[in-house]
Amino acid sequence: SAKAEGKGAARRYAVALDEKARERRVIEAGLRRALAEGELELHYQPLVDARTGKITSAEALLRWRHPERGLIPPGDFIALAEETGLIQPLGAWVLRTACADAARWPDTINVAVNLSPAQFREQTLAQTVAEALSAAGLPPERLELEITEGVLLMDEQQTMATLTRLRASGVRISMDDFGTGYSSLSYLRRFPFDKIKIDQSFVRQVPADPDSVAIVRAIITMGACLGLTTTVEGVETTEQYDFCVAEGCDTIQGFHVSRPIPLGAFRALLCEPVCQPAA
Ligand code: C2E
Ligand code: MG
Ligand code: MG
Ligand code: MG
Repeated sequence: SAKAEGKGAARRYAVALDEKARERRVIEAGLRRALAEGELELHYQPLVDARTGKITSAEALLRWRHPERGLIPPGDFIALAEETGLIQPLGAWVLRTACADAARWPDTINVAVNLSPAQFREQTLAQTVAEALSAAGLPPERLELEITEGVLLMDEQQTMATLTRLRASGVRISMDDFGTGYSSLSYLRRFPFDKIKIDQSFVRQVPADPDSVAIVRAIITMGACLGLTTTVEGVETTEQYDFCVAEGCDTIQGFHVSRPIPLGAFRALLCEPVCQPAA
């Protein structure tokens, strides 16, 4: 009957929810172990100067080297870390590790660290950043913090206070995934960013699609007018790379230059030319 069928569906639904909750607990426990046992690692993806083709910085991208499941990308566990509060110790680990790694690179190379909105919930974020810098002996000017619009949707006063404090200490602030949010432009006015990173979705159909071309061109021009550094993310082809150079963006990041790579491989890359200078 329909009633029995309804009951069955409800039970299957409850079982599915249970299953989901169980899976989350397993991942959460695993993530705690990962932190304690050193299963987390940072891979680095270079950003190159569009004019010289030389590496100017690297973005630290978190990976979890799971003993059975192999390398797990951040998209599979960051959200859970945010929901469980684990993002606090995890984020602090990322900051400490990235600063310590960068302190051993040439001092012309900056390091960029992604911050999750949840990290701004703690009043201690600016302190955590300061401690990571001083423990590593890294000058604040060499650290770039990447935030998305999500950060600015948090408690605005506290977020602004933290960002202002960070920036006053010399750390640079980048707006990540620019153009994907609802109010990217109004945030540019409310906070003095140092850099905008144009989201990779915009470069995907460059140079074939005239609208994409127009949008990337307009954002680069706007960034220059506001005195901001512009980066195009997600550059995968020679055509896309050449387009970004021709449009005058400052730095370029994407698989065309290099994928994110382990620390050792990144250090080796610093010793060889990656891209040709612009003609
Ligand atoms: P994001 O900050 O926008 O980082 C760029 C993402 O695009 C990275 O993915 C990178 O591997 C990928 N990417 C770079 N170049 C290309 C390209 O040419 N083509 C394509 N298809 N993809 C490209 P990943 O490493 O999987 O990271 C995904 C997101 O996870 C990051 O996006 C960032 O929001 C977050 N994330 C990564 N590491 C951390 C971290 O330490 N803390 C926090 N809170 N979030 C992190
Ligand atoms: Mg980023
Ligand atoms: Mg991005
Ligand atoms: Mg992103």
